[in-house]
Amino acid sequence: MSQDVFTTLESEVRFYCRAFPTVFERATGHELFDRDGRRYIDFLAGCGALNYGHNNAAIKRAVLRYLENDGILHAMDMHTRAKAEFMEVFDGVVLKPRQLAYKMQFSGPTGTNAVEAALKLARKVTGRPTVAAFTHAFHGVTLGSLAATSSRGKRQAAGVDLTNVTRFPFDGYFGADIDTIALIEKFIADEGSGVDIPAAFLVETMQAEGGLNVASADWLQRLQGLAQRHGILLIVDDIQAGCGRTGGFFSFERAGLYPDIVCLSKSIGGIGLPLAMVLIKPELDRWEPGEHNGTFRGNNLAFVAATAALDYWKTDRFETDIGRKAATVTDRLTAIATVAGANAARVKGLGLLQGIAWDRPGVPGRIAEAAFRDGLVIETCGARDEVLKVCPPLTIDDDGLNEGLDILERSVETVLGGAP
Ligand SMILES: *Cc1c(COP(=O)(O)O)cnc(C)c1O
Repeated sequence: MSQDVFTTLESEVRFYCRAFPTVFERATGHELFDRDGRRYIDFLAGCGALNYGHNNAAIKRAVLRYLENDGILHAMDMHTRAKAEFMEVFDGVVLKPRQLAYKMQFSGPTGTNAVEAALKLARKVTGRPTVAAFTHAFHGVTLGSLAATSSRGKRQAAGVDLTNVTRFPFDGYFGADIDTIALIEKFIADEGSGVDIPAAFLVETMQAEGGLNVASADWLQRLQGLAQRHGILLIVDDIQAGCGRTGGFFSFERAGLYPDIVCLSKSIGGIGLPLAMVLIKPELDRWEPGEHNGTFRGNNLAFVAATAALDYWKTDRFETDIGRKAATVTDRLTAIATVAGANAARVKGLGLLQGIAWDRPGVPGRIAEAAFRDGLVIETCGARDEVLKVCPPLTIDDDGLNEGLDILERSVETVLGGAP
């Protein structure tokens, strides 16, 4: 099937389509089908926007019912029944059981919109212009978020100075022997360090795009303690690691954090519909009416899908199931990494966001290419694309998961010939 229309008419900026050169047509659960009817297992899952799978039947039914009944689709930020229901269910199913009290701000519908809102609020509340972000961070590509993002290639595309961000080393950045929290605290506490006190720490508890770097629970707790001691806000960017991707609904549950601000997007919209939200501790909700706005704040169809998706979180069955499948992924990736050369490859990540890292750049990309030819959609991440990233829908069944991992195993063998 010709792809000329894309090369002729679509901007050169297009990206994922270059790694997966076919024309997709339909999808259900963890399966994608292209225009020629070829089937692929989806280990990309919209980079975490499809945690509940493609066209999830229960969520799709709720969406279709809403459309059939002429449910309101666009309402600026006026009160709608769909929004009320979403907020009540989110509070009852997600926040209250975790003893978290937050107000919800619906920003524009993309992740970067949520990050921009969070940064602006942190600066407003503290009166400080700089925000601290970490090495290998990814927070989006609009200017405020991009300033906090660390990838040099992405930053250079800005064309202007990216300012008002102080960069600190993430957990393990200098290896296991250097305690980066002690280092950060020294910079913050020392009147003579030359580092201004930031408005906030903006952190991913596990860096996804940055290469599946997991901050330890201890590091995260100490970061929260450090923030509290110095009156710095803690913002967790849970856009990719949240919504169950790393196990619990929020990625910071494993560290028992209570962040001041949390950013959610990607899978909060349930079925791949655009939605983003900023959770704000009530005492920090110092916005003036309309001070931060946007035409597409709160997508009502996405609210309906989001509410339906929260059914998965009404008991702990889903979380248990994610944990079980995550253990399968760890076991199988460990076996694959061993075949691929114990010293050259290692397993990283958490939950259903794990992968294999190679020291030799280029290897994961070649494996992903081979996997695609064999019917698996999988991407790489990390500053040098050094990590192969396994990110299936959380709802994938055991057969689908193993089928995808089988393809991955074969692809590793094909590319590396079973030797490092
Ligand atoms: C994807 C992502 C973003 C940006 O979301 P967009 O919808 O692409 O703007 C921000 N932070 C993290 C951690 C992400 O994974």
